[in-house]
Amino acid sequence: MAVEAATLMRNKAACLFDAGAPCGAEANMAKYLASEAAWDAAEACMATFGGYGFATEYHVERKWREARLFRTAPVSNNLVLAYVGQHVLGMLRSY
Ligand SMILES: Cc1cc2nc3c(=O)[nH]c(=O)nc-3n(C[C@H](O)[C@H](O)[C@H](O)COP(=O)(O)OP(=O)(O)OC[C@H]3O[C@@H](n4cnc5c(N)ncnc54)[C@H](O)[C@@H]3O)c2cc1C
Repeated sequence: MAVEAATLMRNKAACLFDAGAPCGAEANMAKYLASEAAWDAAEACMATFGGYGFATEYHVERKWREARLFRTAPVSNNLVLAYVGQHVLGMLRSY
């Protein structure tokens, strides 16, 4: 469900972009949803492998680490939340 939601939001952002319409909010939301879905999947994978998840030959710890990266880069999910708060919800700038 999370991957499907991320895909739908990504497609919406791409459609808006192609139409020359503003798409900052949708692009930020797609990045957030996709990176959180990837992290949840990585966590589930690590939990499934248990101790073997840390054994380098299984490559789970590498994928787990790389999945975590996308919550920070190319833009931090905290700043996506700040963007949505300010530009979508009309809240005061938080930083
Ligand atoms: C592999 C990689 C690729 C990258 N690619 C790009 C790129 O293409 N373009 C680009 O512009 N940048 C890129 N970055 C930089 C990335 O945007 C920053 O690393 C990220 O925004 C975190 O900033 P920081 O590293 O300065 O850490 P800090 O700003 O010190 O953040 C540390 C922690 O505090 C949180 N935080 C910081 N400010 C706030 C706030 N106002 N509200 C709530 N929480 C906050 C952050 O989310 C993080 O958890 C990349 C980074 C990496 C590691």
